[in-house]
Amino acid sequence: MSSTPQTQLEAFVMNEHQSQYKLPSLHQMLQELVAARSVSSYTPSKDESNKAVIDLLCEWCENIGMTTHVQKVAEGKYNLIAQIVPNENQFDPNLKGIMFAGHTDTVGYMEDDWNTDPFDLKIINDEWFGLGVCDMKGFFPIALQAIAETLNEQGKDTLKAPITLIATSDEETTMDGARALSKLNIKSHQVIIGEPSDGQAIYAHKGVLTTKLIIKGVRGHASNPSLGANAIEAAHWVIGKVMDWKKEWQTTHVNHTFKIPHPTFNFGCIHGGDNSNVICDKCELMLDMRLLPNMPQAMLDQEFKQRLQGMEEAVPGTSLEIITQEFCPPYEETQVPAFSKLLTDLTQQPLVSTNFVTEAPFLQEQGHHPFILGPGSIDWAHKPNERLALSKIQPLINQLKACLKSIS
Ligand SMILES: [Zn+2]
Repeated sequence: MSSTPQTQLEAFVMNEHQSQYKLPSLHQMLQELVAARSVSSYTPSKDESNKAVIDLLCEWCENIGMTTHVQKVAEGKYNLIAQIVPNENQFDPNLKGIMFAGHTDTVGYMEDDWNTDPFDLKIINDEWFGLGVCDMKGFFPIALQAIAETLNEQGKDTLKAPITLIATSDEETTMDGARALSKLNIKSHQVIIGEPSDGQAIYAHKGVLTTKLIIKGVRGHASNPSLGANAIEAAHWVIGKVMDWKKEWQTTHVNHTFKIPHPTFNFGCIHGGDNSNVICDKCELMLDMRLLPNMPQAMLDQEFKQRLQGMEEAVPGTSLEIITQEFCPPYEETQVPAFSKLLTDLTQQPLVSTNFVTEAPFLQEQGHHPFILGPGSIDWAHKPNERLALSKIQPLINQLKACLKSIS
């Protein structure tokens, strides 16, 4: 679509939908979604409900003829599952449905760093500004518009597999929304997750494992080492073993899908001891690992145990506790070549991998085939003055409609 900024803007602000299924304008939908606060935070006083966002999406889905189900994830936290299923005589059991999926929550914000009110959608120089516009409330009006236009243009009667829209809670913290979907047994779909991907389709990302290593020793006077067991010396032994592990995996575990083709290891934090004249009795290390596909948590637990099992002999009197603090699995989707090809054709770019984590591995575990394709840029996610260029909207609506056309 070639258009001047002015006509482009008018198209978004006015509601031109005169057909059977009616939605508010894209601008109005996004304005309401941005105004509906839904910050997720590990700090309980800052953690907000996502109910207001779910209510809005639920209403719009019902307006375009979708059946809706709201799943309670935790107190104040909900998922929305909205669906249109084909008529029984049109249903093709060999076709997988198309799912558009995204999270309803946003990260927190520092109001002073924003040039505008983060909850009041603004258009400045052909960009939308507001908290969550790119990560990722902006995807929902686009997905709804694509579904509504598809239904208006060809009706429901030609549909051969379900169209599903999923909106989850808590992606920015625990990913509990995506995990909770496993309770619903939703039939296998080909999925577009609208996380900011700058118009490229993503088929793989690394996983993240955050581990806390707690080393305990025995306190004593520094003048006589036999009176204690030094936790810092044991930590030194542990760090050495992890560095050997890191070096080994740089050559044994390589996947050139990724810019950094091997797993990475980062010690980001160390705490221990209180004075130089006391034998240190406790030392804690925090380790971040970025993992390649096919590295399940059980395998990593096993590696930690095997590689670090000699510490207690190396520094007698010490003990080690290994605590997994966070695990987001890696993911790679290669099972639906026809859909992969469709996405390559639509974006006119090869499928790519990325460094940020998403809900994709959870959907994949539940039998779906997820890809990431969203309008914004990750460079503006989790930042003040978050923005989304209006020029990204219409191309994505067209791409999502082409996905829907593949099942009708
Ligand atoms: Zn996101």
